[in-house]
Amino acid sequence: MISALMPNYNRADLAFERGEGAWLYTVDGRRFLDFGSGIATSSVGHNNPHLVGAITQQAQRVMHVSNLYRVPQAELLAQRLVANSFADSAFFCNSGAEANEGMIKMIRRAQAKSGHPERTRIICFNGAFHGRTLATLSATGNPKYLDGFGPRVEGFDHVPLNNMNAVRDAIGAETAGIMIEPVQGESGIHVATPRFMRELRAVCDEFGLFLGVDEVQCGMGRTGRLFAYEWSDITPDILSTAKGIAGGFPMGAVLTTETIARHMTPGSHGTTFGGSPLACAAANAVLDILLAPGFLEGVRARAAQLDAGIDQLCATYPDVFASRRGLGLLIGLKCKADVALVQNAAIHEGMLSVTAGDNVLRMLPPLTVTEADCANALSMLDRAAQRVRAHVAAARPENVA
Ligand SMILES: *Cc1c(COP(=O)(O)O)cnc(C)c1O
Repeated sequence: MISALMPNYNRADLAFERGEGAWLYTVDGRRFLDFGSGIATSSVGHNNPHLVGAITQQAQRVMHVSNLYRVPQAELLAQRLVANSFADSAFFCNSGAEANEGMIKMIRRAQAKSGHPERTRIICFNGAFHGRTLATLSATGNPKYLDGFGPRVEGFDHVPLNNMNAVRDAIGAETAGIMIEPVQGESGIHVATPRFMRELRAVCDEFGLFLGVDEVQCGMGRTGRLFAYEWSDITPDILSTAKGIAGGFPMGAVLTTETIARHMTPGSHGTTFGGSPLACAAANAVLDILLAPGFLEGVRARAAQLDAGIDQLCATYPDVFASRRGLGLLIGLKCKADVALVQNAAIHEGMLSVTAGDNVLRMLPPLTVTEADCANALSMLDRAAQRVRAHVAAARPENVA
């Protein structure tokens, strides 16, 4: 059955038929605590009644009309995102890569239309992940993902994260902007320090560059603030987000200031599906939940609970776990043992997670995860560590016949 699908994914042999909150149920009746959330995407949990209700009601009215017409749901969503961020306007699309393509184009266009057509290059960071389209792959810069896909898109320079001297050295007459994930997800949950973010803001102001943040993974409440840039007390010039924005419905967004947005005149950019009534109804329902009084405080409380528990596990099992990283509910557990072994042991105990680079186990529960779910996850991780210990002991040469 699976053979008709292209072999470009390495899939676990699990098939789910339904979900409820932070739990997923397989077709053969097993249940798993979902600490991956479809890679930070099922942000308000599975079968969330408010989200499902909004999607159902909107689908019964009208799903798609195109951007040839006004879309009141999109106008409302944009207005709410603007009211709760640095931005003056929003552009809606369908994925993280598409949002980043938009961000790259907008940075270049705003430079070109304000007298600097030579400014086309963007400074990116080692370990970044910006998506799988040709331009966002070049912005990502990872040779493994570029292999076999021909020439790179020109215009991306890579420097180490949290290294201001390297950033300053990379700035030239053709530099248009800087593009950074405030928390790198894919490469192992590396956090850009608030000080580094503030220094990037300052260097952008000094040289007339645009600061773009890729919050595809770390935005929309994931870190315990609506956007991760808020932790550093700076504002970017442009921001991309996607994954959790519509709770599992495909959607992306670019938020930016009037300085950039005014150059995106009619016809300059577009997308057929972007900002449809259905997608925006879903995202508005997610925002209802995220912006409810006390919700983000709750995310921070769950993060503190998990952080404390994980630190304790690192102390108890130093042969299995090395250290904890991350921000809010974007948690990285750097492993001593092979991360694939740890992930598998967790699956045996009933918990789903995602791996990241640098031998890191990535945990991204739904933002609606309960205190009891988190306690459950910590005991599953505890038992998984014991399982890994037993496995490693059994594999030692003296124990192998
Ligand atoms: C997932 C991700 C992307 C790409 O998003 P898609 O929706 O898969 O295109 C871009 N940037 C970051 C930081 C991501 O985590």
